[in-house]
Amino acid sequence: MSNDKDCIFCKIIRGEIPSSKVYEDDALLGFKDIHPSAPVHVLLIPKKHIARLSEASADDQAVLGRMMLVAPQIAREQGSVDGLRTIINDGRVGRQDVFHLHMHVLGGPGPLGRMIARDE
Ligand code: AMP
Ligand code: ZN
Repeated sequence: MSNDKDCIFCKIIRGEIPSSKVYEDDALLGFKDIHPSAPVHVLLIPKKHIARLSEASADDQAVLGRMMLVAPQIAREQGSVDGLRTIINDGRVGRQDVFHLHMHVLGGPGPLGRMIARDE
């Protein structure tokens, strides 16, 4: 499943790199982002190596759907009891740094900042 030898998130799935795990099932892993941007900041990833959202296929439909359902559950469990934000960065335009598909699950307790910074 987590079969890309050099991918950092595949290494986390295989237990070769430590992570602060908050969720796991047969298809997904959730762990805390090492540089959190919000009080709750979890990365939710498929155990299958999919490099980016735009490379997902119809075969991945179920796992993508499950990510959407699991994200609010994780946010709630981590203390964001009144909402959350999900972000998937894709490619150069989306400023994706790690090329293993991941959903940022962001939460409070308090309201987050604007959806994206105006510039940087
Ligand atoms: P992106 O820019 O969407 O590709 O986000 C990559 C995210 O992965 C960043 O928020 C990093 O802080 C996070 N990250 C990178 N390496 C690790 C790691 N070893 N454990 C947890 N989070 C990581
Ligand atoms: Zn990977």
